[in-house]
Amino acid sequence: MIEQIRENLYRIEIPLPQNPLKALNSYFIRGTDRNILIDTGFNRDECRAAMDQAIKTLDISLENTDLFITHIHSDHSGLAGYLTRPGNKIYTGLYTKQGLCGSSNMANYFEDLIKQSGLIEMGVTTDIMIHPGYRYRSVPVSNLIAVQDDTMIRVRDFALQCINTTGHAPDHICLYDAKHKILFSGDHILGGITPNNTIWGVPWTIQVDYLGEYFKSLDIIDALDVELTLPGHRGILSDCHGRIKELKIHHDNRLDSILDILGTRSMTGAEVASEMEWDIDIKSWQQFPWAQKLFAAGEALSHLTHLVFKGIVDKCLKNGIVYYQKTL
Ligand SMILES: [Zn+2]
Ligand SMILES: [Zn+2]
Repeated sequence: MIEQIRENLYRIEIPLPQNPLKALNSYFIRGTDRNILIDTGFNRDECRAAMDQAIKTLDISLENTDLFITHIHSDHSGLAGYLTRPGNKIYTGLYTKQGLCGSSNMANYFEDLIKQSGLIEMGVTTDIMIHPGYRYRSVPVSNLIAVQDDTMIRVRDFALQCINTTGHAPDHICLYDAKHKILFSGDHILGGITPNNTIWGVPWTIQVDYLGEYFKSLDIIDALDVELTLPGHRGILSDCHGRIKELKIHHDNRLDSILDILGTRSMTGAEVASEMEWDIDIKSWQQFPWAQKLFAAGEALSHLTHLVFKGIVDKCLKNGIVYYQKTL
């Protein structure tokens, strides 16, 4: 499905089969000499077919189209290799640049993350090949440009300011056009569903409070004059600031409920996740698919890590597994 949002600005809906996100929003801006395509879809047949159809319908010349990737997740970056052409630019953050050129990826710490989370005791294997983000990742690409906070990318009368919005991903970048008051929010701000927050490292040695960074990044966007928010999934948002308030309340409630779950117990990230409430049709934790258990544990761990950074929760390492409990 293609929707024209403004003159020369289009939303292309790319289906994400068997994925609770349902679809990815790719955005195309037609320039005078060069175009830009923001986010791409997974590297799998159904996404390629939808993108090919959009290229045909909108008469897009890939030779003149640069890419912008908001963050490394494969639903956003997966088709980078398929869509780029020699000499074209792929703008992205530094972490994503390193991932897409093949010099680093989550495979480096994935096994330790599963082990330290206590997920193995919950029946989750360390087989990264079944992770959708790994399976549908882009082929390595070389023509990457790491943008900085405040880098400007100009296409026709759009002046897209790169805004570092670390939290959902280590180098998540939103694009803001002050003249049109449009924000391309990637997975930083979504409507209807809450962006997943996780840790990008292993629970014991993690150095960054990604949920804390996410809150700070929400404040950065809240300070902007935004009339139209174009997110990476689901519908376009007209009340960015209202949505930011809701997202903060959601995470505050999550933090409170995790403290309630912990009570006086010492628990692993996976154990906490198994007792949290999830907006998923499957009612029992045992029946959660592999990937959903992993995402849930990641979400629990980002909140637990935030509580550790705030000094409200302590963690300890026993037999290679990290346990959390409220500080005395
Ligand atoms: Zn994402
Ligand atoms: Zn996404």
